[in-house]
Amino acid sequence: MISLYLVPTPIGNIDDMTFRSVKVLNEVDIIFCEDTRNTKVLLAHYNITTPLKSYHIFNEDKRVDEIIDLLKEGKVIALVSDAGYPGISDPGYLVCKKAIENGFDVTTLPGATASLTALVTSGLPCDKFYFHGFLSHTKSQKIKELEELIDYDKTMIFYESPHRIKETIYTMKEVFKNRNVCIARELTKKYEEYLRFNLEDCDNYDLDLKGEMVIICEGAKSKSIALELNNLSVEEHYEYYLQQNIASMDAMKKVAKDRKISKSVIYKQLQK
Ligand code: SAM
Repeated sequence: MISLYLVPTPIGNIDDMTFRSVKVLNEVDIIFCEDTRNTKVLLAHYNITTPLKSYHIFNEDKRVDEIIDLLKEGKVIALVSDAGYPGISDPGYLVCKKAIENGFDVTTLPGATASLTALVTSGLPCDKFYFHGFLSHTKSQKIKELEELIDYDKTMIFYESPHRIKETIYTMKEVFKNRNVCIARELTKKYEEYLRFNLEDCDNYDLDLKGEMVIICEGAKSKSIALELNNLSVEEHYEYYLQQNIASMDAMKKVAKDRKISKSVIYKQLQK
């Protein structure tokens, strides 16, 4: 029998609750939630009258012990966050871990999360990916985190706030150069929007954005692509980079770097 349910909640559109999530929230003994004011609105919408208690990062340790005691008494508990999945850039991991350690059955209901909603619509490969959540706020630390990902060749998911989006995109450009990105904004809401562009072109976009947003970023060109490029003629190789909106001088440098030969040789070859 399930003792602890981790229940996702809508990320903007209140209709994005599943029938099962509503049923479970109705049936459990207590719902622990990040902010009781937000969850009360959701529960009122679905006529759910289950008692509510707060569970957030500032009282997490205390609440985990309390939840484990309640589970030992035979109570069935649900945990929700303000939006999306508990545990995904939100509290939840600790209680899940402790409940499992204490031998209780835990389950998570399927539902909304900003990460996967953005990934699937980004138009970037979504078969393999990496979720990072929020980057550090300090620029030097942010650069360090991005540099650690520089050779990672799968799509990456980042959460970001409207106050930092512009600075983060410019920092990504500094580190990742010419990658394609998608900013998925206000998902499931009235002004849902996807901005798809190459980091090299970010000057052409108004990045003073409002609302909630996810950045989906293309991974590094895989080694196999690099090898394939080296099998092309120098002209085709150069053309490939021009197609990626890379300026001609930079494209030449990249061809030279991939082929491990000097820029002047590439330049001469392209002048023929
Ligand atoms: N637990 C949530 C989930 O599963 O997606 C994430 C919570 S985290 C505290 C909040 C961040 O998620 C926001 O800053 C934003 O990056 C992203 N987010 C949440 N709702 C969103 C939405 N409707 N559209 C775009 N991004 C959203």
